[in-house]
Amino acid sequence: MLIDSHAHLDMQEFDKDRTEVLERAIEGGLSQIITIGIDHDSSLKALELARAHDFIYASVGYHPHNARKCNGERLDNLAQISSDPKVVAWGEIGLDFYRSYSSPDEQSQIFSRQIEMANDLNLPVIIHDREAHEDVLIILKKMGKGKRKGVIHCFSGDIDLAVALIGLGYFISIPGTVTYKKATRIKEVASKIPLEKMLVETDAPFLAPVPKRGKRNEPFFVTFTAKEIARLRNIEFDQVALQTAENTKSLFGIPDKQ
Ligand SMILES: [Zn+2]
Repeated sequence: MLIDSHAHLDMQEFDKDRTEVLERAIEGGLSQIITIGIDHDSSLKALELARAHDFIYASVGYHPHNARKCNGERLDNLAQISSDPKVVAWGEIGLDFYRSYSSPDEQSQIFSRQIEMANDLNLPVIIHDREAHEDVLIILKKMGKGKRKGVIHCFSGDIDLAVALIGLGYFISIPGTVTYKKATRIKEVASKIPLEKMLVETDAPFLAPVPKRGKRNEPFFVTFTAKEIARLRNIEFDQVALQTAENTKSLFGIPDKQ
């Protein structure tokens, strides 16, 4: 039992062999996969995939890269489709000052607006934070504390930031980069935060873990990430798999598999 809490199954990288990719995930011991929207169209595709497969759940939202293409009508539309029971979160949303495809102002505006919408809809948020730690923390602090606020996906901050976010009610999602030899900061986070506050993810097709580094990532590879976390914490793989799966289900309100 292992859940990949963040994959982009709709992306064209999977067009040729999506069925095989999903089969490998299930045969490899994954129980569920959350597929993530990054704009209007990908959110619709994510929901389509979730409707077609029991073990797939979807999120809807506008990634900061796409903030400048976002508008009220599109957000309203996403809010409507978010009432589908297979939509379990709003995201991914956030700030990306590394690429800055949209201006910081546009990004902040669209981010804050989507957090408020998610709040109104009672959906947890999936946060993308790249080189924007301080600004993200300020915005999340403004939204206050809660029990199931959301998750910081592909966490790239240090242990202090992780502790601050956990204090606000967020989970920390550990990506495949934790398997990279020189990634000391994320290794420290993965070994120190409470296991009860941790999710694991691939961010497939991006960021494949060792020993697949440099290749296309896919949900099954979350296994390598969980193995590395178990090694760092000196606990059994099953404990990491089970607890992170429990966390993911409780955050997103996903029922146990029949
Ligand atoms: Zn993503």
